[in-house]
Amino acid sequence: MLGNEAFARGAYEGGVEVAAGYPGTPSTEILEFLSKYSTVHSRWCPNEKVAFEVAAGAAIGGKRGLATMKHVGLNVASDALMTLAYTGVNAGFVCIVADDPGMHSSQNEQDSRNYALFAKVPYLEPANSQEALLFARLAFTISEEFDTPVLIRSTTRVSHSRSVVEIGERETVPVRPYQKCAPKFVMIPAFARERRKVLEERLQKLQQWVEETPLNQVELRDPSLGIITGGVLYDYLREIAPSVSILKLGVGYPLPVQKIREFAQQVKRLVILEELDPIWERELKALGIPVEGRNLFPGIGEITPDTIIECLFPEKKREYVEVNEYLPRPPVLCAGCPHRGVFKVLKDLSATVCGDIGCYTLGTLPPLSSMDTCICMGASISMAEGIKLAHPERPVVAVLGDSTFIHAGIPPLIDVVYNKTPIVVLILDNGTTAMTGGQEHPATGKTLSGEDTVRLDFPALGQAIGIPRVERVNAYHIEKLRTLLQEAFLAQHPTLLIIEGLCQLKKRERHTPFAVQDTFCLHCGLCVSTGCPAIENGDVIRIIFERCAGCSICAQLCPFEAIKEVQTP
Ligand code: SF4
Ligand code: SF4
Repeated sequence: MLGNEAFARGAYEGGVEVAAGYPGTPSTEILEFLSKYSTVHSRWCPNEKVAFEVAAGAAIGGKRGLATMKHVGLNVASDALMTLAYTGVNAGFVCIVADDPGMHSSQNEQDSRNYALFAKVPYLEPANSQEALLFARLAFTISEEFDTPVLIRSTTRVSHSRSVVEIGERETVPVRPYQKCAPKFVMIPAFARERRKVLEERLQKLQQWVEETPLNQVELRDPSLGIITGGVLYDYLREIAPSVSILKLGVGYPLPVQKIREFAQQVKRLVILEELDPIWERELKALGIPVEGRNLFPGIGEITPDTIIECLFPEKKREYVEVNEYLPRPPVLCAGCPHRGVFKVLKDLSATVCGDIGCYTLGTLPPLSSMDTCICMGASISMAEGIKLAHPERPVVAVLGDSTFIHAGIPPLIDVVYNKTPIVVLILDNGTTAMTGGQEHPATGKTLSGEDTVRLDFPALGQAIGIPRVERVNAYHIEKLRTLLQEAFLAQHPTLLIIEGLCQLKKRERHTPFAVQDTFCLHCGLCVSTGCPAIENGDVIRIIFERCAGCSICAQLCPFEAIKEVQTP
């Protein structure tokens, strides 16, 4: 079973009733798999904070709740986490957060374990799919026993690997009675001060529990080397060095200090193997337990089996046989992508472009090279405001996708209007959450389970918040787009352009492909400057028939009308 499928199965077996999330690699599939169980109410939410609060509300109300997100999503939900740690829950509440060491598809690398320490809540870390299932199931019981939110930290390798899993039955969990209790659930300062003490008392109880839980296991073998580790690194280690002694931490916070001290006494050399931040190492050193860790392993990027071999067991260095040769393929917008023309025009107009998180980040790369900044969800708009304040003379544009706009773009857009910043905001509406594989969102008119629902109307929203000019434009109408942008740059007020064009992965019908007519082509390179992967730039310019999506952008740009639809007999 895929790790994320196992998380979903574990939550299902654990009696979860309400599950909510926002798609983000490598966490996305958890909710997609959960939505297949009709007994669980599963939903995509506009962002992770909303998802976290919906699931937490369900738990407070008496039904087990699950929130799923990737690491950067927990930044968004952290506001709620910090205070839910005070209130506690009622029925079990679990948040699965998937980290992406090595940044396979993320804008940063962060260690979500820090949030457990920060919020003073326990976190579990499974090593493989079987543990993903077991830990997800067990986490609800722990949450209820200690009246606390519980975090489960996954990583790309756990979420996206497959291993054999034994499944069980769904627990029947009665709905817990809900009782109004303001001192517990309403965190005005007077009540919060009391709950602050409860938080510390709970931590003491958890401290006793972690010493005994079988989730933390000592495997005593050769006493010359003892390694404390957890997560997928445990599985790597067992494979690389089956004879070393291991203390496997299934619960990484709070640490089982007593157990660690005993383990330390039983081995000659104690090493901490942890991915990203030296969290355990710092804590143990502060307790006066001599350990090695960051002196051996890197703190940047993913720790792979080869990293462990290189850093700790160089004598085991493996020999590789190259089995596959493949041509490197740079990341590129798909042929026919509705974003391509937009970036081409923005580049032609020398606009300063603040980008956001999504496929359109690829507009940064040559030949489009349009993007100036990209920080986090929603930052495109607020950063564009800042740049405009620094350079009022520049044409400044914020570019973000439909799902991202709903996630974190609405408050900064209100700020644009409120503070009268004359920037241009482009919502690249491709009708899906494209980069994570095409999930629904409030503007697609469908729920996670495929039911029809109310569709968020972007132009109406723009008008409602008072933007002086709101326009919708077809993403493939290059000249119209150019004219609208030029007008917007001259305006002294904010402008919202909703640029509509379905994601290529959503398109059902294929359009007639285009071809270059050699006799008319003067090799000016304008079509090539779109970066379309269907266009080959050799001795002659050629469009690869099978790749061309027939979007017509290259044909619109060709000054010599050398590109035409393929004539079928
Ligand atoms: S029409 Fe031109 S730009 Fe569009 S997909 Fe085909 S080759 Fe690429
Ligand atoms: S834009 Fe037209 S003339 Fe220029 S290279 Fe492409 S096909 Fe040839």
